[in-house]
Amino acid sequence: MPLSASVLIDGPSELVFDYAIPEGLPVVPGCRVRIPLRNRPATGTVLRVAEKPQGDFALRFLTDLVDPEPLVTPELLNLAEWITSYYGTPLEQVIRAFIPASIRGEKTSAKTQRAAVIAQLPSEEELKKISKRAKRQHSILQLLEGSTEPIPVTQLGGASASAALKALSEKGYLKLIELDVRRDPDAGEIIIPTEPFTLNAEQAKALDAVSDSLASEKPDPILLHGITGSGKTEVYLQATQKVLDLGKNVIILLPEIALAPQTVRRFKARFSVLGDKIAVQHSHLSQGERFDEWNRIRSGEARIIIGARSAIFAPLRDLGLIIVDEEHEPAYKQENPPKYHARDLAVVRCRLEKCSVLLGTATPSLETYNNTLSGKYKLVRMTQRADGATLPLTRVVDMRIESRKQKGRDAILSDRLRSAIDERLEKDEQVILFLNRRGFARSLQCPPCGHAIECKHCAIPLTYHRSEERLICHICGHQAIVPKLCPECKDPAIRFQGYGTEKAEIILNKIFKGNKIARLDTDTTRRKNALRDTLRDFRAKKIKILLGTQMIAKGLDFPNVTLVGVLNADLSLYAPDFRAGERTFQLLTQVAGRAGRGKMAGEVIIQTSTPHSPSIQFARHHDFYGFVDQELEMRRQFSYPPYTHLALLLARSSHERRAEFTLETLHLKLKEKLPEGIILGDPIPSPLTRSHSQFRFQLLLRGPNARVLSRHIKSILDATPTPEDVIVTSDLDAYDLG
Ligand code: ADP
Ligand code: ZN
Repeated sequence: MPLSASVLIDGPSELVFDYAIPEGLPVVPGCRVRIPLRNRPATGTVLRVAEKPQGDFALRFLTDLVDPEPLVTPELLNLAEWITSYYGTPLEQVIRAFIPASIRGEKTSAKTQRAAVIAQLPSEEELKKISKRAKRQHSILQLLEGSTEPIPVTQLGGASASAALKALSEKGYLKLIELDVRRDPDAGEIIIPTEPFTLNAEQAKALDAVSDSLASEKPDPILLHGITGSGKTEVYLQATQKVLDLGKNVIILLPEIALAPQTVRRFKARFSVLGDKIAVQHSHLSQGERFDEWNRIRSGEARIIIGARSAIFAPLRDLGLIIVDEEHEPAYKQENPPKYHARDLAVVRCRLEKCSVLLGTATPSLETYNNTLSGKYKLVRMTQRADGATLPLTRVVDMRIESRKQKGRDAILSDRLRSAIDERLEKDEQVILFLNRRGFARSLQCPPCGHAIECKHCAIPLTYHRSEERLICHICGHQAIVPKLCPECKDPAIRFQGYGTEKAEIILNKIFKGNKIARLDTDTTRRKNALRDTLRDFRAKKIKILLGTQMIAKGLDFPNVTLVGVLNADLSLYAPDFRAGERTFQLLTQVAGRAGRGKMAGEVIIQTSTPHSPSIQFARHHDFYGFVDQELEMRRQFSYPPYTHLALLLARSSHERRAEFTLETLHLKLKEKLPEGIILGDPIPSPLTRSHSQFRFQLLLRGPNARVLSRHIKSILDATPTPEDVIVTSDLDAYDLG
């Protein structure tokens, strides 16, 4: 029976066509092939191979294989199938995410450069002549003679040396060759090798857990809950060594690799003796660098992959361990299709490939922590800072009192924080100030009493929608009018509070004249290397105060920082999101972890209008377990994750009514055959009501079973034609609720 292949055509159009396979051509799923497309040749990736349907004569033959081997391993194809069935994403989209555009496109190729190598040395006499008459030729020969490797022409003088090189090669003294060069993203960086630390007792126990897991037939995922500075990275390094010793390979995922240069450097330093076994994968690489790094992974040359979320698709064989650092970070969720969660895929990939997975964090996500309670994951704890430092002392300042003192304007700095900063500056120590102003959603909070208006059904703050002059719940759609007076204390001062990092910077500059202040947020770091340069100046103490958004919350290690100030802890607390409490606890804990990393004791000051909120109080006492106990109780009561899965359905269009109408239609159909246990929310305007001149409407579904949820949504979406100018997307296990 002749075979046919479904081929995903390269290019943006997402076309999939079937082709007949010429006899004897070893085509398997994952192979790259050449095919005729209309009247021109094209390339594509084979998704499936099937028996050719009978009587189908129209099928054209594919021409040839591009590479003899498939680009995607059979294990990764299993992962792709899993993603397709869980998230309801078309296989084409998934495969597209697996193979970088630079590999698919054939536009990028291996880079070569011209280099010279000695062919035959001239005789002594000949050499004397050259040294007299042709100085240039002589110095080139000297350079080449002293080198065991070919030397790139650029290093021999480039174009200005071409006459001399030509003459030498004509005389037969040297050969010009094409040399493969690797585009190394970290070329030129100086790395000093490090020796493993002697582990402390807690670290040793954590490493033992990994060893046990590596020896197990069916290993359970491990959650490593270690406080900031407890030495998790050292455990990752020694675990990696164990895996390499077993002849297997490792993937290390970091939430945002641009923010984690220290971690990448620590891996390079530890494993530099192995030669070049590390590959990096993230979006800041150039096309060429991506191409080279990916090929080093596929060829098996690289054995340690460090990357952002998409590195979970690295075509690495003999996988022994996947490490997910900062497993709680929302950055692991891919927001564009295919919308996957890299931490969850790490767990799935490990199950499919029977390897180990280590999830590390100081503030576990509730999803992961709940899996340790149910016995699915193993929990290992590290409770002490590894270098003997102590956790900083944390104070909470009540901004309701400050706002009374500083009537009439936004109180940005409390007296307490202001004098603490003065004190540090005097001692030539440094300060980090954190302000997490993001998003469009604004809650209504009363400055005098701190009260925030919440939905009575959902325990999340209502969001103000200016166009409707309404407060709306982003979970269930409940609406309320905007009160003139605070319902709690009857004060008319209730209003939207808001200032961002930009305004804060201006005010800080006035107050702390003469001290250099730098701001780090997405606006100031657009320029390449801006982040790196600012951090370097901060390390060199040229900058005294670093003000930033969550970009500076994690990973940074500056021994001279003794004070961390949180300007407004309420901003993340009153986001219209049931994870707001969790995010606030995580952010405060991570930010606090930046203080007192060195020999000097650290202090943290948190400004808030709700000083008694549990997230703030538990973070203040570094009490994760106290926090999760009450947070899980709330999640259970309102049927939120981790007790349910959640899906966000979004309709957007430049025609407001059509987007709204489409979502209303979908809502009705979803309701008709709603499977048992699914909670369906009403359609509402998104918190981000309009973006890229498109109006956005959304609704939320929750249910105990993810597959039931995604199947129901998919069946309704497939059966409901949408107007051409409306785009509908769904997001399972959504983190960003609009
Ligand atoms: P984490 O990743 O948990 O935040 P790190 O791995 O950055 O913690 O460790 C914090 C500090 O402790 C680092 O400066 C590290 O070099 C040091 N450290 C880690 N393990 C040890 C150890 N066993 N002995 C001494 N110092 C250690
Ligand atoms: Zn509600």
